[in-house]
Amino acid sequence: MRAGRLLGLAALLLLGALAALSVVVLQPPAPAPVDAPAGEFSAGRAFEHVQQIAAGTHVTGSAANDRVRSYLVDTLTELGLQTRVQDAVGADPGDPGRVEMARVRNVVAVLPGTDPTGRLFLVAHHDSVETGPGGNDDAAGVSSVLETVRALREGPRLRNDVVVVLTDAEEACLCGAEAFADSDPLAADGGVVLNLEARGTGGPPIMFETARGNAGLAGVYAGAAPHPVATSFAVEVYRALPNDTDFSPLLGAGFTGLNTAYIDGSAAYHTPEDTPDRMDRGSLQAMGDNTLALTRALGADDLGALADPASGDAVYFPVLGGLLRYPGWLVWPVAGLAVVAVGALAVVTRRRTGTSLRRSLAGFGLAVVPVVLAPLAAQAAWALLVAVRPGYAGLIDPWRPGWYRLGVVALVVAVLLVWYALVRRRVGADALAVGALGWLAVLGVVLAAAAPGGSYLTAVPALGAALAGVVGLLATPAWARPLAGLVAGAVAVLVLAPTIALFFPALGLATGAAPALFAVLLGLVLLPVLEPLFGSAGAGRASRAVVPGVAVLLTLALFGTGLAVDRFDAAHPAPTQLMYALDADTGDAWWISTEDDPVAWTAAYLDGHQDLSETFPVLAGDLATGGAEPADLPAPTLTTTATDLGDGRREVTVQVQSWRAARLLVLDVTGARVTGATVAGRDVPADVLGEDRLSVTFHAPPEAGVAATFVVEGGGPVTVRALDGSDGLADLPGFTPRPEDVGVAGTHTSDLLLVATSRVM
Ligand SMILES: [Zn+2]
Repeated sequence: MRAGRLLGLAALLLLGALAALSVVVLQPPAPAPVDAPAGEFSAGRAFEHVQQIAAGTHVTGSAANDRVRSYLVDTLTELGLQTRVQDAVGADPGDPGRVEMARVRNVVAVLPGTDPTGRLFLVAHHDSVETGPGGNDDAAGVSSVLETVRALREGPRLRNDVVVVLTDAEEACLCGAEAFADSDPLAADGGVVLNLEARGTGGPPIMFETARGNAGLAGVYAGAAPHPVATSFAVEVYRALPNDTDFSPLLGAGFTGLNTAYIDGSAAYHTPEDTPDRMDRGSLQAMGDNTLALTRALGADDLGALADPASGDAVYFPVLGGLLRYPGWLVWPVAGLAVVAVGALAVVTRRRTGTSLRRSLAGFGLAVVPVVLAPLAAQAAWALLVAVRPGYAGLIDPWRPGWYRLGVVALVVAVLLVWYALVRRRVGADALAVGALGWLAVLGVVLAAAAPGGSYLTAVPALGAALAGVVGLLATPAWARPLAGLVAGAVAVLVLAPTIALFFPALGLATGAAPALFAVLLGLVLLPVLEPLFGSAGAGRASRAVVPGVAVLLTLALFGTGLAVDRFDAAHPAPTQLMYALDADTGDAWWISTEDDPVAWTAAYLDGHQDLSETFPVLAGDLATGGAEPADLPAPTLTTTATDLGDGRREVTVQVQSWRAARLLVLDVTGARVTGATVAGRDVPADVLGEDRLSVTFHAPPEAGVAATFVVEGGGPVTVRALDGSDGLADLPGFTPRPEDVGVAGTHTSDLLLVATSRVM
């Protein structure tokens, strides 16, 4: 039996090594130096752009944003591209009665093709958030585009037009991309977009979003990208998340394409800590290598055919450095075959081992326990970490999550092993192995219906394991069964390990349930490999407890190490959100936080909860508030006129101007139904009109202010409320600077300062 245990251990080590390899090959390459060959992408050269672009915060509308834009125009012009600035107003319709708009300046440059079949657009945003320099987000994307274009100029001209679109106001409202799609002549015929983003400071660039009908483009990506990291499941996950990038308005306008971002190190995202020196330049290299190769491939391809959504979606996922791919119409056949194969395995298992079908069904019923418990345990572990270290509440992933991630994996293993140790003698190892596979087959069908791009995650391992199991049971040699277990485990590891590894940065430890679920499903496939570790049927209780015991101790050790390693300090602060709002009409002022359970520094400003959304229409509902000393700040000037149009309709014209160089203006019209509106020369999209309120948030307003016209119907007196918003609380009375281990949360309202006034007509 000792030999059996050793063989089992060897098999596990082999599979562990395969899992490690599957994850390691996802990692980005070393950055190429500044003197890399001219036709290649060099992260060294691209990083010089990063340092220029992200020298400081360059939020849309700011002087720093002007400086960055000039740098981009100069660089592209020097590279020989026809370069211009699109000056326009973009709009992002929200819920009925709400719209975000912005004055945008997009940098647009063209590299004409020799015999174009369409246009390829290289898109990244040149603005940063208001509270950080955007060293990765999106200096990474912009510099990848610049260095790609430079390398392209070294080779022969491409067949298709390549259009560089470096957008403005992505952070504010995706308004640069929207304005480009809405009104730039180059956008009129659509085309294929490569959008580049960074939601962190490192990790592999993941191609996480596509247009519908992605089979053609996924094929080009798989064939051309030297560092392909993509899964069709990411597309499904991303659709369920509230995140958006420039890709969204472009997709909405009929473009197709691929959206790529690197996402690890998300604690720095949108914060002052998103600096160039934190960038993993290997991530920049991978992003650039892929962009250059894809541009060359798509630049030579027939873009008309590639932009056709009728080609259907593909299933794809990373396997050992490559991308495995099959057409979407195979999703249901694969899921169905997996169910049939697991059924066949149950029958063969009964014949060969004497295990009854009832026992296999019991195994199926019992296997739901770890499938449910493992994700719950991962969430409970995070809740415990937040309780121990309250600053974690504001993060989706800690600054240094590595030990915790291993801890979650160990926790899943511990849950699985404790469960297995408790049930294996009662039900039998064979019945449990078959029953457990049943869950993967069932989930394959559920996912085929709900999220087809993710069905492969469980259907392929279930199919592989069931087929291997059937062959192993029917074959005569004694080594056939352990070999079948090893093959089944290898298939599951190859399919699931990369996705589990990508899930950790994608959703963060705050949603550790997601990687935990797929990790426990992987563990269920490995049950036949784990079985020999438990020793012979006659082994004593102590012997059986060794394996789960080790896993429990390892879990505790890993989480303990995580807590010791990941402490808040000046370079890794606990994020918090605080803002200040002054009603200039009444002289009342408040400190406000969107946080339920803020850190001590923030809590010191707050003494209760209040709904201030009528006074400050950009605030959402009930928030933590505290009385503040009114600051001596000028209210925006609000000039209004009303003209009777007859039929109960009135036209209200508004001119609003900030005296504080505000980053945003809000115009909020209430008291009558708003049926038409024009702001800064652009019509407000009709789908937000027709409500008893229209709230317009206008980002990057010109210095001379914004003029607007509203057509209202019925109602009584109309109230126009105007707010201006700026960044930074340091000069306010009563403000005390943050302690060095307290930072600025990566939201768009951190350190926001609002001043409001109103007119009634
Ligand atoms: Zn971004």
